[in-house]
Amino acid sequence: MATDVEFSVKRLLRENIREIKPYSSARDEYTGTEGIFLDANENAYGSAAGHGLHRYPDPLQRKLKEKIGEIKGANPTNIFVGNGSDEPIDLLFRAFCEPGKDTVITLPPTYGMYRVCADINGTAVKTVALTESYDIDVESIFEAVDENTKLIFVCSPNNPTGNLIDKDDIIELLTGFHGIVVVDEAYIDFAQEDGFLGMLDQYSNLVILQTFSKAWGMAALRVGMAFASEEIINVLNKIKYPYNINEATQRIALRALKNIDFMKESVNSIIDERAWLKGALGALSCVEYIYPSDANFLLVKVTDPVAIYNYLIDEHKVIVRDRSKVTLCDGCLRITVGTESENQELINGLREWKVS
Ligand SMILES: *Cc1c(COP(=O)(O)O)cnc(C)c1O
Repeated sequence: MATDVEFSVKRLLRENIREIKPYSSARDEYTGTEGIFLDANENAYGSAAGHGLHRYPDPLQRKLKEKIGEIKGANPTNIFVGNGSDEPIDLLFRAFCEPGKDTVITLPPTYGMYRVCADINGTAVKTVALTESYDIDVESIFEAVDENTKLIFVCSPNNPTGNLIDKDDIIELLTGFHGIVVVDEAYIDFAQEDGFLGMLDQYSNLVILQTFSKAWGMAALRVGMAFASEEIINVLNKIKYPYNINEATQRIALRALKNIDFMKESVNSIIDERAWLKGALGALSCVEYIYPSDANFLLVKVTDPVAIYNYLIDEHKVIVRDRSKVTLCDGCLRITVGTESENQELINGLREWKVS
């Protein structure tokens, strides 16, 4: 049902979260940088780890958010930084979904983490499958919404299908749904279109997820972001672990963000290689269809997915992702775009499939 209820963060929140008083850390209570710090029971003699790591880090990652805001064109008060995107996903459940009562909607085939977080938080998941062409079925999504539905997860470009979701369809959800629409843009840097960041001011029920794990090549650091209204960001800040991003990560991430050229060049290389890979795969007899991709991977329908998956590992030490058991992904492997030589090896291996 598309409801007429006015969107309200307060109304949407779990009652216990609405009332909660967050932990107030030493670094919350005194935010100056000068002085003799005898307030946080740190080791004033230094750190066994060196690198000046003996002080607790900025709980709100102000410098990092400043820089992210500059790059993304967003206000720091609209940014949450988490331990990967996984953290804001989990926090959204903890903030808004009453275990055993509330529900969320996911649109399979899609990213597996939404369901895992739902399961951990005791929240039922209603699924509305994408159409055959991997678009979202807005009407069926509204039919699945009930008064306890709090979150709808839309992944665009979608993992594992690789396509962007139609913007107008997402806007229909934002306009017609009384809860939060989470648009996961982990792969937006590889896409032809801009994402939803420019629309943050227009939709108070929009949460955008992005990450430094893909285009920025920082998967090991675990830095993800949520962009939303200040009111929603404040909720996430209120319930997160006080020092959720450690000092080493904050420093390395800040330094990395000054290296935007690396990001842009590698995104360009990946997009070029994606096109090459698509052409090379298309010439192989074991490949039946290659789905259009706005991401850094290709979803590829092959004649014999499990056998080819195992063959690539056993004979060529090339590991791809078997998605053939996933809804609407019959026969499909998901292949991340590698370096030029890695992609060449993959193709060489596939050329020898069943020939030798
Ligand atoms: C890779 C990916 C992420 C990023 O996860 P991190 O926890 O930030 O590494 C988020 N969403 C989707 C759909 C992904 O594929």
